[in-house]
Amino acid sequence: MRIHADIGKCQGYGNCVAIDAKHFDLDDDGMVVVIDDAVAPDELDTTEEAVRSCPVSAIWTQAAGGPADE
Ligand code: SF4
Repeated sequence: MRIHADIGKCQGYGNCVAIDAKHFDLDDDGMVVVIDDAVAPDELDTTEEAVRSCPVSAIWTQAAGGPADE
């Protein structure tokens, strides 16, 4: 799975960072930065929880392009 983010929607609440600091951080302006967009199978539960925690749906996961990209 891959993480996608719509920076324009992010309101800087930081919920995602609090739950999944391996994949999300905030930049100097307090907006989300995806540190690592690749989500391993054993990380998916945490990342999905972070996605659900975002009040403005600015982040989501999507299946990667192909088997080599999973
Ligand atoms: S939870 Fe959503 S609004 Fe908050 S920092 Fe993360 S992406 Fe931005």
